[in-house]
Formats: sequence, C-alpha cells, structure tokens
Amino acid sequence: MNHIRLRKNNLCVENVSAQKLTKRYKTPFYCYSLAQLKDNYQNMKNAFKNIEPLICFSVKSNSNPVVLKELKNMGSGADVVSLGELLKALKAGISAKKIVFSGVGKTEEEIVMAIRKKVLLINVESESEVNLINKIAKKTSRKVSIGIRLNPNITGKTHEKISTGGKDEKFGLVYNDFINLCKKIKKMKNLNLLGLSVHIGSQISSVTPFKKVLSVIDKIIKKTKINFKFIDLGGGLGISYYQNEKPFDLKQYAKLVNKFSKDKNSKIIFEPGRYIVANTAILITKIIYIKKSNRKNFIILDAGMNNLMRPALYNAYHQIIPLIRKGRFAKGNIKFVGPICESSDEFSNQKTFSKIKEGDYVALANVGAYGMTLSSNYNTRPTIAEIMVSNSKHKIIRKRQSLEDLVNN
Ligand SMILES: *Cc1c(COP(=O)(O)O)cnc(C)c1O
Repeated sequence: MNHIRLRKNNLCVENVSAQKLTKRYKTPFYCYSLAQLKDNYQNMKNAFKNIEPLICFSVKSNSNPVVLKELKNMGSGADVVSLGELLKALKAGISAKKIVFSGVGKTEEEIVMAIRKKVLLINVESESEVNLINKIAKKTSRKVSIGIRLNPNITGKTHEKISTGGKDEKFGLVYNDFINLCKKIKKMKNLNLLGLSVHIGSQISSVTPFKKVLSVIDKIIKKTKINFKFIDLGGGLGISYYQNEKPFDLKQYAKLVNKFSKDKNSKIIFEPGRYIVANTAILITKIIYIKKSNRKNFIILDAGMNNLMRPALYNAYHQIIPLIRKGRFAKGNIKFVGPICESSDEFSNQKTFSKIKEGDYVALANVGAYGMTLSSNYNTRPTIAEIMVSNSKHKIIRKRQSLEDLVNN
C-alpha cells in the first residue's frame, strides 16, 4: 500500500494532510512516511526470506539519522562509501559486523578507520587499494576481511550517468583482473578474501541484467574455485517514477537468487538504497510566481536544484502533485522551475495540471532517495528541513539550516 496518496483530493502522508504541514513548517521541506519505510524494508526482507540475506542499506541514498535508526531497528546493515557515512551508520547503532565499505577511492584515513572499527568487509576495487590495505593491516598485525568488486561487463539498461557495470566504467575489476587479483591476495598474509561483490548501476527496471550478473559470478566461482563466504549482489533495484511504469519484479529476482544460492554456502548481501527509501518522501514546495512567457507558463517554485538535483543531474522525472487538487485542469505549456540561477533548474513540463495559483503548494514525489543527500547550499540557500510522519504525528528529523549558520560558514 502507498502511504502517501490523495485522499478526497487532499494529498496525505499517512493520516496527515500535507497542506496542514505547510502551516507548521517553512517550505520547501522533505516529508517522509515512516510506515512506507517500514513496509519497503519488510517487503524486501520477505521476498528473500528463504535465503535470509544481510540487507546493507546504501547510506548514500539517504543518510538522515532517524531513517538510519529506523532501518537499524528492523535489522538493517549499511553499505557506506565514505568515512562520514561509516561514522553516521555506527552512530545510528548499526553494528560494524553489518557494514560493508565500498567505493573506488578509499583514502588511507578511511581504510584505517574501517579496520579499526572492524567492518564486515572492505570491498576493494583495485590492486593498489589491496596493497595499501595489506600494508596498513600488517602495521596493526590484523587480518582484514575484504571482498573484491567484480565488473561483470553488464550494463543495467539505465541512464548512462547511473550505470556502473560496463567494462569501460571505473568501478570494480574486469574478469581477468579479478581472477589475477584473487591469486595475489591469497599470498598476502594480512588479508582474508571473503567476499565477491557487484553493483551494476541504479534504477534498473528489469531482472534480465541481474540474471546475467549471476551467471558471470557462477563462471568466476568455477574458474577460481573460491568458496566465497559472502556474495554481495549490490543494489540497483528500480522503482516506478512514472504512474504507469511497471514496478521491478522482486519476486522474479528472488526466484533467481534462490536458485543461484542453492549450490553454494555463501551468505548473500544486498545493498539497496533507492528501493528502500525513494517512495517514502515528497518534497513540499510553494508556488512563488506564475509567469507567462512566450506561450509558456513558468510555475516558479521555492524549491530548486539545490534541494533536489536529480532532474538537473540526470534528467530524472519526479511527478508533481498539487497538495489540494481542484476539479478543473489548467491546460497549456506548463513548466515547473526552481529559483536557482541556472537554466537546468527545471523539474518537469506538463500539458495539463490541476488548477493552481500563486501561493498554492505542490509536492514532488518519490524524492526519498538521492534527494536530501545530493542537496547543496548553491546560491547560498540553507539546506532544508526533513519532517517525518507516523500515523497522525509529525516531527522534525533534520532542522532547516539557520541563516546564521549559512552566513557564517
Ligand atoms: C549506490 C550504490 C548502491 C545503491 O544503489 P541503489 O540503486 O540506490 O540501490 C549499492 N551499492 C553500491 C556499491 C553503490 O555504489
């Protein structure tokens, strides 16, 4: 069930009217549904209940402390890609034993901390990184658990800017390099090669690329004869941003993974980000001005690309919903834009929209993943608040940055 929906033409987050929230909180702000977050996590967990995977939530998709704590309470681990994310995950109470550290450019400082905190796996992406980890491990006379990220040369059929699995991408090691590195690691006394990881990209809508990935992994295992303790299948599961878009077939994916893991005694790890948080939030924003120009109707919002960068960064689409839908629809070339001084500061074009006027509010949908985490102070605007709704209650889970803080830093 979707916990963010129109009820009698009134957009509601669980039992709270979004319009009511605009009276309490300064726009723009992010607004989350806790029930949706819980549903999404449980949904994923249930789909894979036969194999009991470790679900390591991808912190880069959303690093709000309350979101992380709620996920931790449901048993989630974390996939982190920086020292900051590692420390935030630990602060939320996520056990280091459930944390994997990914990324092509881990610094010495980050590796030292990952070793000190005893994370489950450091997923390495190059031979140089392996050498550095081995050197650091030697100094601390520890044996460090690592995984190697495979570049399976499979692209996820998604936007090119969020595809990571092609052989010309910077991520992971291609087939032959992977096999050679396995051999080298075996000879290193301070490293324990426990994992194989892959992550082919984000917002992947079909199961087919995942199916191909599983068969490449099978091939690698046959070739290396390594019994990996952990097989980390990454994230990348897509969600429906368009209203009539078919949702990702989680059942089908689960079937494939069940079959894949049958003849292995490896623990499966997933690193979902978008799938867990994308549809848990809306961005509520006010219409400042409506400007007719050259047969276009510009709807100028108080939220811009500094608050939600996905449209400017990858041409991503986010449905725009009026907080109160009025019967008659306005027709025409309608362009929703932000206040930022960049022409890429646009959200979407529509042919029709509910009747709106200056001072009304609208919401951008499905902004829980890569929304707040990608936001910035560009044009010297404060980072905005995050509100969480649970049932009929609402609370601030991140304060809007104060003007004082903005001006002094
Ligand atoms: C970004 C990322 C993820 C999460 O991707 P989603 O598409 O949000 O599920 C998982 N693993 C790694 C290594 C990543 O870089």
